[in-house]
Amino acid sequence: MKEGGETVGRSGGRAVDSAGQGAPAESAESTARPPDRPTATLVIQTAFLGDVVLTTPLLTALAERHGPVDVVTTPAAAPLLEGHPAVREIIRYDKKGRDAGLAGVRRLGAALRARRYARAYLPHRSWRSAALALLARVPERTGFADSPAAITYTTRVARVRTGHEVERLLALAGTPGGEAPPVSLALHPEDEAAADRWLAERGVPRAFIAVAPGSIWATKRWPYYPALAASVEAALVVVGGREDAALADEIVAAAPGRAWSAAGALSLGGSAALTRRARALVTNDSAPLHLATAVGTPVVAIFGPTVPEQGFGPRDERSLALGHAGLRCRPCSAHGPAVCPLGHHRCMRELPAETVVEAVAMVAEAEDRRAIRTRH
Ligand code: SF4
Repeated sequence: MKEGGETVGRSGGRAVDSAGQGAPAESAESTARPPDRPTATLVIQTAFLGDVVLTTPLLTALAERHGPVDVVTTPAAAPLLEGHPAVREIIRYDKKGRDAGLAGVRRLGAALRARRYARAYLPHRSWRSAALALLARVPERTGFADSPAAITYTTRVARVRTGHEVERLLALAGTPGGEAPPVSLALHPEDEAAADRWLAERGVPRAFIAVAPGSIWATKRWPYYPALAASVEAALVVVGGREDAALADEIVAAAPGRAWSAAGALSLGGSAALTRRARALVTNDSAPLHLATAVGTPVVAIFGPTVPEQGFGPRDERSLALGHAGLRCRPCSAHGPAVCPLGHHRCMRELPAETVVEAVAMVAEAEDRRAIRTRH
């Protein structure tokens, strides 16, 4: 798998870049004249990785109604959707790189216009997404009423403050009540093989716990992962990107012979496949939480400056969310600030390792009991 703006082609969720590069020459979709009346559906979701994962139920709901959808997303998030059954084509938009600025918006808008979409859904509340849909001349444009760009939409949907983000996003599809489609990823055989190989080469025991200590936002990082590693008895594997390598090394050093770092060693799909093999994942309020949900691994999720009630907590009953109860400054922002505005960062500093160790034991033991029940 190639990342960082390069094109990756896979059947079912084929990826092309903003200029249309990467469409296979033999593809009927890429060579046929567009139909006289547009019928295709476009979703523009260029937010963070976790947001893209949480958008997959919306993609599934839209695909059930209109057929597989095309998705504009970032190069980082594109591999998460490759091969997803609800996705026809992935259009990479490198908004911070080669597609940055007005020229990039215009170029992609023109490319989308040539594809002639019937409708566009805009889960990301940004002017940039709205401008793309307008430049693409998509006749039906659906987004949230509280978006700064709402004036440009043809359908505005109220964004409720309560409930989970998955349900809020599903409201864009006008899906009536009932069970939401699951958060899902399409893990590929090569991702599964890479995870198996990585674990086998290191002799990692089967019943390991995955740990994701990173977050883009510094205040969301729980500081006691090394203490957790020293206290739990299980084998640990640290997952994350290259930027998490230093944090991972500290964790590995705290549990010699029992912890391994996969930070930066696997693709996003490979990390998700590795997480799928774990008994549980310990994570901050960040993208790995949602990746674990998508692959069916229970999580112990540590919340500091944010709270699950903001809509981004674990949804399944096998998982646990932890936070500093009774701290009146929580939550202090939607995403977690770069530094604690009060200077003490008590929300994380006062959440001790023992609490997390206990939660990990509870979740892992419940998983073991579930596995035994499933076998019999
Ligand atoms: S203000 Fe409170 S919730 Fe926000 S980072 Fe500081 S301690 Fe955490």
